[in-house]
Amino acid sequence: TKETEVKQLVEWDKKHFLHPTSNPKEGATTGPSIIFSEGKGVYVKNAIDGEQYLDAMSMLWNVNLGHGHQELAKAGSEQLASLACTSSFKGFSNEPAIQLAEKLASITPGDLNTVFYTSGGSESNDTALKLARFYWGLKGKSEKRNFIALNKAYHGVTMAAQTATGIPTFNEFAGSNIDGVFHAEAHLLNCELGDQDDPNYANSIRGIIEREGADTIAGIILEPVQGAGGVNMPPEGYLQAVRDICDEFNILFLADEVICGFGRTGKMFGVDNWQVTPDMMSIAKGLTSGYAQLGGVMMNEEIRQTFANYDGVLSHGFTYSGHPTACAIGLKNIEIIERDNILENVKNMEIEMKKGLDYLQQKYPFVTKSRSLGLLSAFELYEDPATEKLFESRVFPANTVVNESFKQKLIVRAVGAHNQGIAIAPPLNINKQEIEDIFERMDAALTAFQ
Ligand code: PLP
Repeated sequence: TKETEVKQLVEWDKKHFLHPTSNPKEGATTGPSIIFSEGKGVYVKNAIDGEQYLDAMSMLWNVNLGHGHQELAKAGSEQLASLACTSSFKGFSNEPAIQLAEKLASITPGDLNTVFYTSGGSESNDTALKLARFYWGLKGKSEKRNFIALNKAYHGVTMAAQTATGIPTFNEFAGSNIDGVFHAEAHLLNCELGDQDDPNYANSIRGIIEREGADTIAGIILEPVQGAGGVNMPPEGYLQAVRDICDEFNILFLADEVICGFGRTGKMFGVDNWQVTPDMMSIAKGLTSGYAQLGGVMMNEEIRQTFANYDGVLSHGFTYSGHPTACAIGLKNIEIIERDNILENVKNMEIEMKKGLDYLQQKYPFVTKSRSLGLLSAFELYEDPATEKLFESRVFPANTVVNESFKQKLIVRAVGAHNQGIAIAPPLNINKQEIEDIFERMDAALTAFQ
């Protein structure tokens, strides 16, 4: 029967499937709580209990056009049937990869006109850091090889991306950080504007550049809005201040748009909210709405020209760089975002999201700091919001809320250094009723938590 099949799957999962970013002991003993079987829009089915769950996280902030989107499936299956996989190494190219490159050039800001394809966000960030070093080498400045990243940043788990990440548990994993990355405190606007008397100045980007010397710094990498580190919004003027620092000290501005890109914040890219153009931009996730594994690094004309003048081997590239099936899906995904006015829907649904968050904040004294830019949203849990006193009685308050939400068949995620944040980032084509559905379930979860 079906029930015995599911039991078998759970047993195999426990024994044969080591899960990413997970508790291995729990995985090996308890096994998975969901075996996703099918999905439609914002809802996904769990084979274990046969119930529908509301995916208020777009899985990992990536399934931006929702589940079961037949047009994306069709774009993928047509390409799979005609030519599934090709190489993009030396001299080889393919139609979807070329067409998507041209499309990306047209929708990314400023003169970010060239893409280097990867298979995901971590690869994109490692690529951005390597290409930045390569660029400075070609410019005769190979001593410019270090980077500044921000605390609470999440940039992925390959060794350079792990190092740029500013979350201790990832940095400490398996002793795998690389050399040459300094972390600045995030969002110290005054310091970045030049206030040397600020007590935090030494921990600012500016402070670090002064300490280390601009001639050793290749780039600054940051997310326009920090995602996994807590959904942390930059203060107004912050991204421009970083842009100005990069111009002043001749440092590359590397924007990690892996979550923010492709409409998540109500603009096509996160930086578009502040009209700032980086020198390189990492993209992944929403590029294909997760229907295929694809990422990329966009670069500006100056960088492209510098590479175009290099008559040697660019010894960097992935088997799946420019994968035609993934690119065909990416192209269709952007076509749908434009055709269906997804950015407008995100702005409209942001209003509904804020209504729901306000409702929770008014009803529950321990809910505070709710925020949303587009459909990138969060709130926080404190025993005393006025003083931001953390819960003493509960070791992992956000995990508890996530578990209570799960009982309501609602998928959200715990974020933040003290397990105090709940992130909500549903598919971008969500409607008003579905947003209300999120908050009905969250309301019940918080009632159970309190
Ligand atoms: N950068 C950001 C901002 C991310 O949120 C993530 C993933 O969550 C990554 C990079 C890493 O992407 P991937 O998991 O596709 O390697």
